[in-house]
Amino acid sequence: MKTLLARPALLLAILAALVAAVPVFFSNFAVSLLNDVGIASLVALGLVLLTGIGGATSFGQAAFVGIAAYASAWLTTTQGMSPWLGLLFALTLTGASALAIGMLTLRLGGHFLSLSTIAWGLSIAMLFGNIDALGRHTGLSNIPALSIAGGSLADPRAIYYLIWSLVALAFWFGYNLLNSRPGRAIRSLRGGAILLASVGADAYRVRLTLFLTAALLAGLAGWLYAHMNRFISPSPFDVRASIEYLLMAVAGGLGHIAGALVGAALVMVMKNGLQDVLPLLTQRAGQLEAVTFAVLFILTLHFARGGLMSFVRRFTQGRIGPARPRPEIAAAEPLAQRSPPDRGTTILQVSGAVKRFGGLVAVNDVSFDVKAGEIVGLIGPNGAGKSTMFNLLTCTAPMTAGRVNFLGHDVSGMSQREVARLGLARTFQHVKLRPHMSLLDNVALGAYARTSAGVLRAGLRLDRREEYQVLREAQRQLDRIGLGQRAHEEAGSLPLGTQRMLEIARALAADPVLLVLDEPAAGLRRKEKMALGDLLRKLRDDGVTILIVEHDMEFVMTLVDRLVVMNFGSKLVEGDPAAVRADESVQSAYLGSVV
Ligand code: ADP
Ligand code: MG
Repeated sequence: MKTLLARPALLLAILAALVAAVPVFFSNFAVSLLNDVGIASLVALGLVLLTGIGGATSFGQAAFVGIAAYASAWLTTTQGMSPWLGLLFALTLTGASALAIGMLTLRLGGHFLSLSTIAWGLSIAMLFGNIDALGRHTGLSNIPALSIAGGSLADPRAIYYLIWSLVALAFWFGYNLLNSRPGRAIRSLRGGAILLASVGADAYRVRLTLFLTAALLAGLAGWLYAHMNRFISPSPFDVRASIEYLLMAVAGGLGHIAGALVGAALVMVMKNGLQDVLPLLTQRAGQLEAVTFAVLFILTLHFARGGLMSFVRRFTQGRIGPARPRPEIAAAEPLAQRSPPDRGTTILQVSGAVKRFGGLVAVNDVSFDVKAGEIVGLIGPNGAGKSTMFNLLTCTAPMTAGRVNFLGHDVSGMSQREVARLGLARTFQHVKLRPHMSLLDNVALGAYARTSAGVLRAGLRLDRREEYQVLREAQRQLDRIGLGQRAHEEAGSLPLGTQRMLEIARALAADPVLLVLDEPAAGLRRKEKMALGDLLRKLRDDGVTILIVEHDMEFVMTLVDRLVVMNFGSKLVEGDPAAVRADESVQSAYLGSVV
Protein backbone atom coordinates (compact mmCIF):
# COMPACT_ATOMS: atom_id res chain seq x y z
CA MET A 1 0.00 0.00 0.00
CA LYS A 2 2.80 2.33 0.92
CA THR A 3 4.47 1.96 -2.44
CA LEU A 4 1.13 2.45 -4.18
CA LEU A 5 0.46 5.67 -2.33
CA ALA A 6 3.86 6.93 -3.32
CA ARG A 7 3.01 6.30 -6.95
CA PRO A 8 -0.35 7.93 -7.65
CA ALA A 9 -0.10 7.23 -11.39
CA LEU A 10 0.06 3.48 -10.74
CA LEU A 11 -2.79 3.70 -8.26
CA LEU A 12 -4.91 5.53 -10.81
CA ALA A 13 -4.09 2.99 -13.52
CA ILE A 14 -5.21 0.13 -11.25
CA LEU A 15 -8.41 1.99 -10.41
CA ALA A 16 -9.08 2.63 -14.10
CA ALA A 17 -8.55 -1.05 -14.92
CA LEU A 18 -10.97 -2.05 -12.14
CA VAL A 19 -13.62 0.37 -13.38
CA ALA A 20 -13.18 -0.85 -16.93
CA ALA A 21 -13.57 -4.48 -15.86
CA VAL A 22 -16.88 -4.00 -14.03
CA PRO A 23 -19.23 -4.64 -16.99
CA VAL A 24 -17.40 -7.88 -17.72
CA PHE A 25 -17.80 -9.38 -14.28
CA PHE A 26 -20.92 -7.83 -12.77
CA SER A 27 -24.66 -8.03 -13.27
CA ASN A 28 -26.79 -5.56 -15.17
CA PHE A 29 -28.06 -4.27 -11.89
CA ALA A 30 -24.58 -3.38 -10.63
CA VAL A 31 -23.67 -1.76 -13.92
CA SER A 32 -26.83 0.38 -13.89
CA LEU A 33 -26.18 1.38 -10.32
CA LEU A 34 -22.66 2.43 -11.24
CA ASN A 35 -24.02 4.40 -14.16
CA ASP A 36 -26.21 6.31 -11.72
CA VAL A 37 -23.23 6.82 -9.40
CA GLY A 38 -21.11 8.17 -12.25
CA ILE A 39 -23.77 10.63 -13.36
CA ALA A 40 -24.47 11.81 -9.82
CA SER A 41 -20.75 12.21 -9.13
CA LEU A 42 -20.56 14.83 -11.89
CA VAL A 43 -23.14 16.96 -10.09
CA ALA A 44 -21.46 16.34 -6.75
CA LEU A 45 -18.11 17.33 -8.23
CA GLY A 46 -19.58 20.69 -9.18
CA LEU A 47 -20.87 21.06 -5.64
CA VAL A 48 -17.55 20.17 -4.03
CA LEU A 49 -15.96 22.89 -6.12
CA LEU A 50 -18.72 25.44 -5.58
CA THR A 51 -19.71 24.73 -2.00
CA GLY A 52 -16.81 22.87 -0.49
CA ILE A 53 -14.00 24.88 -1.97
CA GLY A 54 -15.69 28.09 -3.11
CA GLY A 55 -17.92 28.43 -0.04
CA ALA A 56 -21.23 29.10 -1.84
CA THR A 57 -23.99 26.62 -0.97
CA SER A 58 -26.39 25.82 -3.79
CA PHE A 59 -29.72 24.08 -3.23
CA GLY A 60 -30.55 24.40 -6.89
CA GLN A 61 -28.11 22.08 -8.59
CA ALA A 62 -30.76 19.56 -9.66
CA ALA A 63 -32.47 22.35 -11.57
CA PHE A 64 -29.43 22.61 -13.83
CA VAL A 65 -29.47 18.84 -14.31
CA GLY A 66 -33.12 19.22 -15.27
CA ILE A 67 -32.63 22.08 -17.69
CA ALA A 68 -30.02 20.09 -19.60
CA ALA A 69 -32.06 16.88 -19.51
CA TYR A 70 -35.20 18.60 -20.75
CA ALA A 71 -33.33 20.65 -23.35
CA SER A 72 -31.77 17.63 -24.98
CA ALA A 73 -34.91 15.50 -24.58
CA TRP A 74 -37.05 18.15 -26.22
CA LEU A 75 -34.63 18.73 -29.10
CA THR A 76 -34.20 15.04 -29.84
CA THR A 77 -37.83 13.95 -29.46
CA THR A 78 -39.95 16.80 -30.81
CA GLN A 79 -37.35 18.17 -33.24
CA GLY A 80 -35.75 14.87 -34.16
CA MET A 81 -32.19 16.18 -33.82
CA SER A 82 -29.09 14.21 -32.86
CA PRO A 83 -28.37 13.80 -29.14
CA TRP A 84 -24.94 15.33 -29.78
CA LEU A 85 -26.62 18.51 -30.94
CA GLY A 86 -28.75 17.99 -27.87
CA LEU A 87 -25.59 18.11 -25.75
CA LEU A 88 -24.59 21.41 -27.28
CA PHE A 89 -28.07 22.82 -26.77
CA ALA A 90 -28.27 21.48 -23.22
CA LEU A 91 -24.95 22.99 -22.18
CA THR A 92 -25.74 26.32 -23.84
CA LEU A 93 -29.07 26.55 -22.08
CA THR A 94 -27.64 25.45 -18.73
CA GLY A 95 -24.76 27.88 -19.08
CA ALA A 96 -27.02 30.77 -20.03
CA SER A 97 -29.38 30.17 -17.12
CA ALA A 98 -26.45 29.76 -14.72
CA LEU A 99 -25.03 33.08 -15.89
CA ALA A 100 -28.39 34.78 -15.49
CA ILE A 101 -29.07 33.41 -12.02
CA GLY A 102 -25.45 33.90 -11.02
CA MET A 103 -25.47 37.54 -12.03
CA LEU A 104 -28.68 38.06 -10.08
CA THR A 105 -27.65 36.30 -6.89
CA LEU A 106 -23.88 36.06 -6.53
CA ARG A 107 -23.51 39.63 -5.38
CA LEU A 108 -25.81 38.85 -2.49
CA GLY A 109 -23.77 37.81 0.50
CA GLY A 110 -23.79 34.52 2.39
CA HIS A 111 -27.21 33.08 3.14
CA PHE A 112 -29.07 35.08 0.54
CA LEU A 113 -27.38 33.11 -2.17
CA SER A 114 -28.43 29.79 -0.66
CA LEU A 115 -31.98 31.03 -0.13
CA SER A 116 -32.26 32.24 -3.67
CA THR A 117 -31.03 28.90 -5.01
CA ILE A 118 -33.89 27.21 -3.14
CA ALA A 119 -36.38 29.56 -4.79
CA TRP A 120 -34.71 28.94 -8.11
CA GLY A 121 -34.74 25.16 -7.65
CA LEU A 122 -38.41 25.15 -6.70
CA SER A 123 -39.51 27.33 -9.58
CA ILE A 124 -37.61 25.48 -12.29
CA ALA A 125 -38.98 22.10 -11.22
CA MET A 126 -42.45 23.63 -11.14
CA LEU A 127 -41.91 25.03 -14.62
CA PHE A 128 -41.08 21.59 -16.05
CA GLY A 129 -44.38 20.26 -14.71
CA ASN A 130 -46.42 23.04 -16.27
CA ILE A 131 -45.19 23.34 -19.84
CA ASP A 132 -47.19 21.41 -22.41
CA ALA A 133 -44.27 21.02 -24.79
CA LEU A 134 -42.33 19.31 -21.97
CA GLY A 135 -45.09 16.85 -21.24
CA ARG A 136 -46.16 18.45 -17.95
CA HIS A 137 -46.09 16.00 -15.04
CA THR A 138 -45.91 12.95 -17.28
CA GLY A 139 -42.65 14.16 -18.76
CA LEU A 140 -41.03 13.18 -22.04
CA SER A 141 -40.50 9.61 -23.18
CA ASN A 142 -38.98 7.82 -26.17
CA ILE A 143 -35.83 9.86 -25.85
CA PRO A 144 -33.30 8.39 -28.30
CA ALA A 145 -30.30 6.50 -26.97
CA LEU A 146 -26.83 7.83 -27.62
CA SER A 147 -24.72 6.31 -30.32
CA ILE A 148 -21.09 6.72 -31.24
CA ALA A 149 -20.02 6.09 -34.85
CA GLY A 150 -23.13 4.03 -35.51
CA GLY A 151 -22.74 1.91 -32.38
CA SER A 152 -25.74 2.28 -30.07
CA LEU A 153 -25.23 2.95 -26.38
CA ALA A 154 -28.72 1.80 -25.44
CA ASP A 155 -27.30 -1.09 -23.40
CA PRO A 156 -26.29 0.00 -19.89
CA ARG A 157 -22.98 -1.81 -20.38
CA ALA A 158 -22.26 0.30 -23.44
CA ILE A 159 -23.15 3.71 -22.01
CA TYR A 160 -21.19 2.72 -18.90
CA TYR A 161 -17.95 3.36 -20.74
CA LEU A 162 -19.07 6.75 -22.00
CA ILE A 163 -20.26 7.80 -18.54
CA TRP A 164 -17.09 6.73 -16.78
CA SER A 165 -14.85 8.24 -19.44
CA LEU A 166 -16.66 11.54 -18.92
CA VAL A 167 -16.38 11.14 -15.15
CA ALA A 168 -12.64 10.56 -15.47
CA LEU A 169 -12.35 13.58 -17.73
CA ALA A 170 -14.39 15.78 -15.38
CA PHE A 171 -12.35 14.82 -12.32
CA TRP A 172 -9.11 15.33 -14.23
CA PHE A 173 -10.43 18.75 -15.23
CA GLY A 174 -11.38 19.54 -11.64
CA TYR A 175 -8.02 18.44 -10.34
CA ASN A 176 -6.14 20.53 -12.90
CA LEU A 177 -8.38 23.49 -12.18
CA LEU A 178 -7.67 23.46 -8.47
CA ASN A 179 -3.95 23.42 -9.09
CA SER A 180 -3.83 26.48 -11.27
CA ARG A 181 -4.20 30.25 -11.35
CA PRO A 182 -8.03 30.29 -11.35
CA GLY A 183 -7.97 27.42 -8.86
CA ARG A 184 -5.92 29.38 -6.36
CA ALA A 185 -8.40 32.23 -6.68
CA ILE A 186 -11.31 29.80 -6.15
CA ARG A 187 -9.62 28.36 -3.08
CA SER A 188 -9.15 31.89 -1.77
CA LEU A 189 -12.81 32.91 -2.13
CA ARG A 190 -13.42 32.08 1.52
CA GLY A 191 -10.66 34.52 2.42
CA GLY A 192 -12.92 37.35 1.25
CA ALA A 193 -13.20 39.80 -1.60
CA ILE A 194 -10.58 42.13 -0.12
CA LEU A 195 -7.91 39.43 -0.19
CA LEU A 196 -8.66 38.69 -3.84
CA ALA A 197 -8.76 42.36 -4.78
CA SER A 198 -5.36 42.81 -3.14
CA VAL A 199 -3.85 40.46 -5.72
CA GLY A 200 -5.79 42.02 -8.56
CA ALA A 201 -8.58 39.42 -8.79
CA ASP A 202 -12.30 40.08 -8.88
CA ALA A 203 -14.07 37.85 -6.36
CA TYR A 204 -17.42 38.26 -8.09
CA ARG A 205 -16.06 37.10 -11.43
CA VAL A 206 -14.21 34.20 -9.85
CA ARG A 207 -17.41 33.12 -8.11
CA LEU A 208 -19.45 33.53 -11.27
CA THR A 209 -17.12 31.35 -13.36
CA LEU A 210 -17.12 28.77 -10.58
CA PHE A 211 -20.92 28.79 -10.48
CA LEU A 212 -20.97 28.38 -14.25
CA THR A 213 -18.50 25.49 -14.12
CA ALA A 214 -20.56 23.68 -11.49
CA ALA A 215 -23.74 24.24 -13.50
CA LEU A 216 -22.14 22.89 -16.68
CA LEU A 217 -21.04 19.75 -14.83
CA ALA A 218 -24.65 19.35 -13.67
CA GLY A 219 -25.73 19.95 -17.27
CA LEU A 220 -23.47 17.19 -18.55
CA ALA A 221 -25.00 14.89 -15.96
CA GLY A 222 -28.51 15.89 -17.05
CA TRP A 223 -27.79 15.11 -20.67
CA LEU A 224 -26.41 11.67 -19.79
CA TYR A 225 -29.37 11.05 -17.49
CA ALA A 226 -31.93 11.84 -20.20
CA HIS A 227 -30.36 9.62 -22.84
CA MET A 228 -29.59 6.78 -20.48
CA ASN A 229 -33.05 6.52 -18.91
CA ARG A 230 -34.73 7.66 -22.12
CA PHE A 231 -37.58 9.02 -20.09
CA ILE A 232 -37.73 12.09 -17.89
CA SER A 233 -40.26 13.69 -15.57
CA PRO A 234 -39.96 16.70 -13.25
CA SER A 235 -39.45 14.93 -9.91
CA PRO A 236 -35.76 13.93 -10.22
CA PHE A 237 -34.91 17.60 -10.64
CA ASP A 238 -36.68 19.12 -7.65
CA VAL A 239 -35.19 20.61 -4.51
CA ARG A 240 -35.19 17.24 -2.76
CA ALA A 241 -32.84 15.96 -5.43
CA SER A 242 -30.67 19.04 -5.00
CA ILE A 243 -30.38 18.29 -1.31
CA GLU A 244 -29.41 14.72 -2.13
CA TYR A 245 -26.59 16.00 -4.33
CA LEU A 246 -25.48 18.27 -1.55
CA LEU A 247 -25.55 15.32 0.82
CA MET A 248 -23.28 13.39 -1.54
CA ALA A 249 -20.77 16.22 -1.54
CA VAL A 250 -20.90 16.55 2.24
CA ALA A 251 -20.79 12.83 2.98
CA GLY A 252 -17.87 12.28 0.65
CA GLY A 253 -15.95 15.27 1.85
CA LEU A 254 -16.38 18.86 0.78
CA GLY A 255 -12.71 19.64 0.86
CA HIS A 256 -11.58 17.18 -1.76
CA ILE A 257 -12.83 16.45 -5.25
CA ALA A 258 -12.55 12.68 -4.75
CA GLY A 259 -15.18 13.18 -2.05
CA ALA A 260 -17.74 13.76 -4.81
CA LEU A 261 -17.19 10.26 -6.14
CA VAL A 262 -17.10 8.63 -2.73
CA GLY A 263 -20.22 10.52 -1.64
CA ALA A 264 -22.15 9.75 -4.83
CA ALA A 265 -21.39 6.06 -4.42
CA LEU A 266 -22.35 6.08 -0.75
CA VAL A 267 -25.65 7.90 -1.22
CA MET A 268 -26.68 5.97 -4.34
CA VAL A 269 -25.93 2.59 -2.81
CA MET A 270 -27.73 3.54 0.39
CA LYS A 271 -30.69 4.85 -1.53
CA ASN A 272 -30.90 1.61 -3.44
CA GLY A 273 -30.64 -0.43 -0.28
CA LEU A 274 -33.28 1.66 1.44
CA GLN A 275 -35.63 1.34 -1.49
CA ASP A 276 -35.37 -2.44 -1.14
CA VAL A 277 -35.67 -2.58 2.62
CA LEU A 278 -38.00 0.23 3.62
CA PRO A 279 -41.11 -0.99 1.75
CA LEU A 280 -40.88 -4.18 3.80
CA LEU A 281 -41.05 -2.14 7.00
CA THR A 282 -43.60 0.52 6.21
CA GLN A 283 -46.00 1.76 3.61
CA ARG A 284 -44.53 5.23 3.82
CA ALA A 285 -41.18 4.26 2.42
CA GLY A 286 -40.64 7.53 0.54
CA GLN A 287 -40.98 9.61 3.66
CA LEU A 288 -38.83 7.31 5.71
CA GLU A 289 -36.14 7.54 3.05
CA ALA A 290 -36.14 11.32 3.32
CA VAL A 291 -35.89 11.07 7.10
CA THR A 292 -33.01 8.60 6.88
CA PHE A 293 -31.09 10.93 4.60
CA ALA A 294 -31.79 13.89 6.86
CA VAL A 295 -30.40 11.93 9.82
CA LEU A 296 -27.36 10.91 7.81
CA PHE A 297 -26.83 14.55 6.84
CA ILE A 298 -26.90 15.72 10.44
CA LEU A 299 -24.67 12.88 11.62
CA THR A 300 -22.05 13.68 8.99
CA LEU A 301 -22.09 17.35 9.89
CA HIS A 302 -21.75 16.45 13.55
CA PHE A 303 -19.20 13.69 13.54
CA ALA A 304 -17.38 13.86 10.24
CA ARG A 305 -17.29 17.40 8.96
CA GLY A 306 -14.67 16.43 6.43
CA GLY A 307 -16.80 13.55 5.15
CA LEU A 308 -15.46 10.11 4.34
CA MET A 309 -12.46 11.58 2.60
CA SER A 310 -11.19 12.95 5.89
CA PHE A 311 -10.74 9.36 7.10
CA VAL A 312 -8.93 8.43 3.91
CA ARG A 313 -6.73 11.48 4.38
CA ARG A 314 -5.96 10.58 7.96
CA PHE A 315 -4.86 7.19 6.72
CA THR A 316 -2.71 8.50 3.89
CA GLN A 317 -1.16 11.29 5.89
CA GLY A 318 2.51 10.66 6.37
CA ARG A 319 2.40 7.72 3.99
CA ILE A 320 2.70 9.83 0.91
CA GLY A 321 6.34 10.62 0.26
CA PRO A 322 7.64 14.18 0.39
CA ALA A 323 6.91 16.31 -2.65
CA ARG A 324 9.45 15.48 -5.31
CA PRO A 325 11.54 18.28 -6.77
CA ARG A 326 10.08 19.34 -10.08
CA PRO A 327 12.76 20.21 -12.60
CA GLU A 328 10.21 21.76 -14.98
CA ILE A 329 9.59 24.48 -12.40
CA ALA A 330 13.24 25.29 -11.88
CA ALA A 331 13.70 25.32 -15.65
CA ALA A 332 10.79 27.68 -16.35
CA GLU A 333 11.49 31.11 -17.73
CA PRO A 334 11.09 33.94 -15.25
CA LEU A 335 7.82 35.89 -15.41
CA ALA A 336 7.95 39.25 -17.13
CA GLN A 337 8.74 42.09 -14.73
CA ARG A 338 7.75 45.71 -14.62
CA SER A 339 10.52 48.16 -15.36
CA PRO A 340 11.02 49.73 -11.93
CA PRO A 341 10.93 53.54 -11.61
CA ASP A 342 14.27 55.28 -11.13
CA ARG A 343 15.43 55.52 -7.56
CA GLY A 344 14.35 58.80 -6.05
CA THR A 345 11.38 59.53 -8.33
CA THR A 346 8.15 60.21 -6.52
CA ILE A 347 5.83 57.22 -6.92
CA LEU A 348 3.13 58.00 -4.38
CA GLN A 349 1.76 61.42 -3.67
CA VAL A 350 -0.94 61.97 -1.09
CA SER A 351 -2.30 65.52 -1.14
CA GLY A 352 -4.88 66.94 1.21
CA ALA A 353 -6.45 63.57 2.05
CA VAL A 354 -9.60 63.86 4.15
CA LYS A 355 -11.82 61.09 5.47
CA ARG A 356 -14.92 61.78 7.53
CA PHE A 357 -17.08 59.25 9.30
CA GLY A 358 -20.18 61.31 9.99
CA GLY A 359 -18.97 64.04 12.33
CA LEU A 360 -15.62 62.40 13.03
CA VAL A 361 -12.67 63.44 10.89
CA ALA A 362 -10.47 60.35 10.90
CA VAL A 363 -7.98 61.78 8.39
CA ASN A 364 -7.70 65.53 8.23
CA ASP A 365 -5.84 67.13 5.32
CA VAL A 366 -2.82 64.82 5.27
CA SER A 367 -0.16 65.13 2.58
CA PHE A 368 3.07 63.21 2.05
CA ASP A 369 5.15 61.58 -0.69
CA VAL A 370 6.96 58.29 -1.12
CA LYS A 371 9.96 58.05 -3.43
CA ALA A 372 11.23 54.97 -5.19
CA GLY A 373 13.74 53.01 -3.14
CA GLU A 374 12.95 54.40 0.30
CA ILE A 375 11.19 53.02 3.35
CA VAL A 376 8.68 55.43 4.80
CA GLY A 377 6.96 54.87 8.13
CA LEU A 378 3.49 56.23 8.85
CA ILE A 379 3.20 56.18 12.61
CA GLY A 380 1.02 57.52 15.37
CA PRO A 381 -0.73 56.50 18.57
CA ASN A 382 -3.89 54.41 18.55
CA GLY A 383 -6.78 56.15 16.86
CA ALA A 384 -4.52 58.56 14.99
CA GLY A 385 -6.06 57.59 11.65
CA LYS A 386 -3.28 55.38 10.28
CA SER A 387 -5.48 52.47 9.24
CA THR A 388 -7.94 54.88 7.66
CA MET A 389 -5.09 56.49 5.73
CA PHE A 390 -3.94 53.03 4.69
CA ASN A 391 -7.41 52.25 3.37
CA LEU A 392 -7.52 55.49 1.44
CA LEU A 393 -4.30 54.92 -0.40
CA THR A 394 -5.01 51.27 -1.17
CA CYS A 395 -8.48 52.34 -2.36
CA THR A 396 -10.19 50.05 0.16
CA ALA A 397 -12.32 53.02 1.25
CA PRO A 398 -13.37 56.13 -0.70
CA MET A 399 -11.92 59.51 0.23
CA THR A 400 -14.03 62.45 1.35
CA ALA A 401 -11.66 64.96 -0.22
CA GLY A 402 -8.10 65.14 -1.51
CA ARG A 403 -6.09 63.14 -4.01
CA VAL A 404 -3.79 60.17 -4.15
CA ASN A 405 -1.49 59.93 -7.12
CA PHE A 406 0.29 56.65 -7.77
CA LEU A 407 2.80 56.42 -10.63
CA GLY A 408 1.18 59.33 -12.40
CA HIS A 409 -2.37 57.94 -12.07
CA ASP A 410 -5.00 59.65 -9.98
CA VAL A 411 -6.16 56.62 -8.03
CA SER A 412 -8.81 58.32 -5.93
CA GLY A 413 -12.02 56.65 -7.06
CA MET A 414 -10.25 53.60 -8.46
CA SER A 415 -11.13 50.17 -7.15
CA GLN A 416 -8.75 48.33 -4.89
CA ARG A 417 -8.23 45.78 -7.62
CA GLU A 418 -7.23 48.37 -10.18
CA VAL A 419 -4.69 50.03 -7.92
CA ALA A 420 -3.27 46.59 -7.05
CA ARG A 421 -2.82 45.92 -10.75
CA LEU A 422 -0.96 49.20 -11.13
CA GLY A 423 1.69 47.83 -8.78
CA LEU A 424 0.59 48.58 -5.24
CA ALA A 425 0.80 45.46 -3.10
CA ARG A 426 -0.37 45.26 0.50
CA THR A 427 -0.36 43.01 3.51
CA PHE A 428 -3.03 42.79 6.20
CA GLN A 429 -2.95 43.68 9.85
CA HIS A 430 -4.96 40.52 10.52
CA VAL A 431 -3.16 38.10 8.22
CA LYS A 432 -5.27 36.82 5.37
CA LEU A 433 -3.58 33.61 4.32
CA ARG A 434 -5.33 30.49 3.15
CA PRO A 435 -4.44 28.14 6.01
CA HIS A 436 -5.01 24.90 4.08
CA MET A 437 -3.09 25.96 1.02
CA SER A 438 0.63 25.33 0.83
CA LEU A 439 3.09 28.14 1.33
CA LEU A 440 3.91 27.89 -2.35
CA ASP A 441 0.27 28.26 -3.44
CA ASN A 442 -0.30 31.15 -1.07
CA VAL A 443 2.60 33.02 -2.58
CA ALA A 444 1.67 32.02 -6.14
CA LEU A 445 -1.73 33.65 -5.59
CA GLY A 446 0.16 36.93 -5.39
CA ALA A 447 1.19 36.61 -9.03
CA TYR A 448 -2.45 36.46 -10.17
CA ALA A 449 -2.39 39.76 -12.05
CA ARG A 450 0.83 38.86 -13.87
CA THR A 451 -0.74 35.86 -15.58
CA SER A 452 -3.87 35.10 -17.53
CA ALA A 453 -4.91 31.41 -17.55
CA GLY A 454 -8.68 30.98 -17.20
CA VAL A 455 -10.82 28.02 -16.11
CA LEU A 456 -10.87 26.28 -19.47
CA ARG A 457 -7.15 26.61 -20.14
CA ALA A 458 -6.30 25.50 -16.62
CA GLY A 459 -8.76 22.60 -16.56
CA LEU A 460 -7.42 21.25 -19.85
CA ARG A 461 -3.87 21.67 -18.62
CA LEU A 462 -2.96 24.08 -21.40
CA ASP A 463 -1.58 26.53 -18.85
CA ARG A 464 1.52 24.57 -17.87
CA ARG A 465 4.15 26.93 -19.26
CA GLU A 466 2.68 29.89 -17.43
CA GLU A 467 1.96 27.81 -14.32
CA TYR A 468 5.57 26.67 -14.02
CA GLN A 469 6.66 30.28 -14.38
CA VAL A 470 4.34 31.27 -11.54
CA LEU A 471 5.54 28.44 -9.31
CA ARG A 472 9.13 29.32 -10.01
CA GLU A 473 8.44 32.93 -9.07
CA ALA A 474 6.64 31.81 -5.89
CA GLN A 475 9.56 29.57 -4.97
CA ARG A 476 11.95 32.46 -5.57
CA GLN A 477 10.00 34.72 -3.22
CA LEU A 478 9.84 31.96 -0.60
CA ASP A 479 13.59 31.54 -0.82
CA ARG A 480 13.91 35.28 -0.43
CA ILE A 481 12.11 35.24 2.92
CA GLY A 482 13.93 32.10 3.99
CA LEU A 483 11.00 29.66 3.76
CA GLY A 484 12.00 27.95 0.54
CA GLN A 485 12.52 24.61 2.25
CA ARG A 486 8.98 24.58 3.62
CA ALA A 487 7.21 25.39 0.34
CA HIS A 488 4.86 22.40 0.57
CA GLU A 489 3.74 22.80 4.16
CA GLU A 490 0.35 24.26 4.97
CA ALA A 491 0.37 27.98 5.70
CA GLY A 492 -1.88 27.49 8.73
CA SER A 493 0.85 25.58 10.54
CA LEU A 494 3.15 28.60 10.72
CA PRO A 495 3.47 30.87 13.76
CA LEU A 496 2.13 34.41 13.37
CA GLY A 497 5.48 36.04 12.72
CA THR A 498 6.24 33.66 9.89
CA GLN A 499 2.75 34.14 8.48
CA ARG A 500 3.44 37.87 8.26
CA MET A 501 6.60 37.13 6.28
CA LEU A 502 4.62 34.82 4.03
CA GLU A 503 2.16 37.63 3.31
CA ILE A 504 5.10 39.80 2.34
CA ALA A 505 6.29 37.09 -0.05
CA ARG A 506 2.78 36.94 -1.56
CA ALA A 507 2.84 40.70 -2.02
CA LEU A 508 6.30 40.50 -3.61
CA ALA A 509 5.10 37.86 -6.07
CA ALA A 510 2.97 40.58 -7.64
CA ASP A 511 6.18 42.39 -8.66
CA PRO A 512 4.96 45.55 -6.93
CA VAL A 513 6.31 49.05 -7.33
CA LEU A 514 5.24 49.89 -3.79
CA LEU A 515 4.69 47.57 -0.87
CA VAL A 516 2.36 48.84 1.85
CA LEU A 517 2.40 47.00 5.16
CA ASP A 518 -0.38 47.43 7.74
CA GLU A 519 1.01 47.15 11.27
CA PRO A 520 3.36 44.29 10.45
CA ALA A 521 4.76 44.16 13.98
CA ALA A 522 1.39 43.92 15.75
CA GLY A 523 1.11 40.80 17.90
CA LEU A 524 4.65 39.65 17.20
CA ARG A 525 7.11 38.55 19.86
CA ARG A 526 10.47 40.28 20.15
CA LYS A 527 12.35 37.69 18.16
CA GLU A 528 9.75 37.67 15.44
CA LYS A 529 9.90 41.44 15.22
CA MET A 530 13.67 41.27 14.80
CA ALA A 531 13.39 38.71 12.02
CA LEU A 532 10.78 40.83 10.28
CA GLY A 533 12.96 43.92 10.60
CA ASP A 534 15.90 42.04 9.10
CA LEU A 535 13.75 40.93 6.17
CA LEU A 536 12.51 44.44 5.47
CA ARG A 537 16.05 45.83 5.59
CA LYS A 538 17.11 43.17 3.13
CA LEU A 539 14.25 44.08 0.80
CA ARG A 540 15.19 47.73 0.99
CA ASP A 541 18.73 46.81 -0.07
CA ASP A 542 17.17 44.98 -3.05
CA GLY A 543 15.49 48.26 -4.01
CA VAL A 544 11.91 47.51 -2.90
CA THR A 545 9.96 50.65 -1.95
CA ILE A 546 8.04 50.19 1.28
CA LEU A 547 5.47 52.18 3.22
CA ILE A 548 4.94 50.84 6.74
CA VAL A 549 1.89 51.86 8.68
CA GLU A 550 2.86 51.08 12.24
CA HIS A 551 1.93 51.77 15.80
CA ASP A 552 5.15 50.46 17.33
CA MET A 553 7.60 53.37 17.15
CA GLU A 554 10.65 51.40 18.26
CA PHE A 555 10.17 48.87 15.49
CA VAL A 556 10.29 51.46 12.73
CA MET A 557 12.98 53.71 14.17
CA THR A 558 15.92 51.61 13.02
CA LEU A 559 14.28 50.68 9.76
CA VAL A 560 12.92 53.65 7.90
CA ASP A 561 14.46 56.52 5.98
CA ARG A 562 11.68 58.89 6.84
CA LEU A 563 8.72 59.06 9.19
CA VAL A 564 5.32 60.68 8.87
CA VAL A 565 3.65 61.06 12.26
CA MET A 566 -0.11 61.36 12.58
CA ASN A 567 -2.18 62.32 15.60
CA PHE A 568 -5.92 62.89 15.82
CA GLY A 569 -6.22 62.53 12.07
CA SER A 570 -3.72 65.23 11.20
CA LYS A 571 -0.09 65.08 10.19
CA LEU A 572 1.97 66.09 13.19
CA VAL A 573 5.51 66.08 11.82
CA GLU A 574 7.58 64.51 9.10
CA GLY A 575 11.30 63.85 9.15
CA ASP A 576 14.11 61.37 9.67
CA PRO A 577 13.88 59.03 12.67
CA ALA A 578 16.31 60.97 14.85
CA ALA A 579 14.48 64.26 14.35
CA VAL A 580 11.12 62.65 15.00
CA ARG A 581 12.34 60.96 18.15
CA ALA A 582 13.59 64.29 19.47
CA ASP A 583 10.36 66.10 18.63
CA GLU A 584 8.45 67.09 21.74
CA SER A 585 5.04 67.06 20.12
CA VAL A 586 5.58 63.44 19.07
CA GLN A 587 6.70 62.44 22.56
CA SER A 588 3.69 64.01 24.15
CA ALA A 589 1.35 62.49 21.54
CA TYR A 590 2.66 59.02 22.33
CA LEU A 591 2.76 59.67 26.07
CA GLY A 592 -0.73 61.14 26.07
CA SER A 593 -2.26 58.17 24.33
CA VAL A 594 -3.25 54.85 25.76
CA VAL A 595 -0.44 52.82 24.28
P1 ADP B 1 -5.31 53.99 13.87
O1 ADP B 1 -5.19 52.96 12.83
O2 ADP B 1 -4.30 55.06 13.78
O3 ADP B 1 -5.36 53.41 15.23
P2 ADP B 1 -7.92 54.41 12.71
O4 ADP B 1 -7.65 54.90 11.35
O5 ADP B 1 -8.29 52.99 12.88
O6 ADP B 1 -6.70 54.77 13.65
O7 ADP B 1 -9.05 55.30 13.36
C1 ADP B 1 -9.05 56.72 13.36
C2 ADP B 1 -10.36 57.21 13.91
O8 ADP B 1 -11.42 56.94 13.02
C3 ADP B 1 -10.74 56.55 15.24
O9 ADP B 1 -11.31 57.51 16.07
C4 ADP B 1 -11.75 55.53 14.83
O10 ADP B 1 -12.67 55.28 15.86
C5 ADP B 1 -12.42 56.17 13.63
N1 ADP B 1 -12.88 55.18 12.63
C6 ADP B 1 -12.10 54.34 11.95
N2 ADP B 1 -12.84 53.60 11.09
C7 ADP B 1 -14.12 54.01 11.24
C8 ADP B 1 -15.37 53.65 10.64
N3 ADP B 1 -15.42 52.70 9.70
N4 ADP B 1 -16.48 54.28 11.06
C9 ADP B 1 -16.42 55.24 12.00
N5 ADP B 1 -15.30 55.63 12.60
C10 ADP B 1 -14.15 55.03 12.24
MG1 MG C 1 -5.01 50.79 13.01
